[in-house]
Amino acid sequence: MKTPDDRDEPVAVVAPTSCPFCTSPQIAAATEKVDAFTYWRCKACGQMWNVGRLRVNNRRGYRER
Ligand SMILES: [Zn+2]
Repeated sequence: MKTPDDRDEPVAVVAPTSCPFCTSPQIAAATEKVDAFTYWRCKACGQMWNVGRLRVNNRRGYRER
C-alpha cells in the first residue's frame, strides 16, 4: 500500500512477508517506519536483517548516501 506522505522516499520499499532465512511469516519490523534500512526480526529463528543489506549484491558502493 502506498501513502502520499511517503513519496519523498527514493528507495522502493518492499516489506518482507516472510523470513529470508527460515521462511517463517512471523516477522516484525524493529521500527514503525519501514524503509530499505529498517531492521526486521524473525520471531521463529531470531535472525535480524534489513532489505537494503539483502539487495546490496549488485552494487559495490553500499554507502551511496
Ligand atoms: Zn526466520
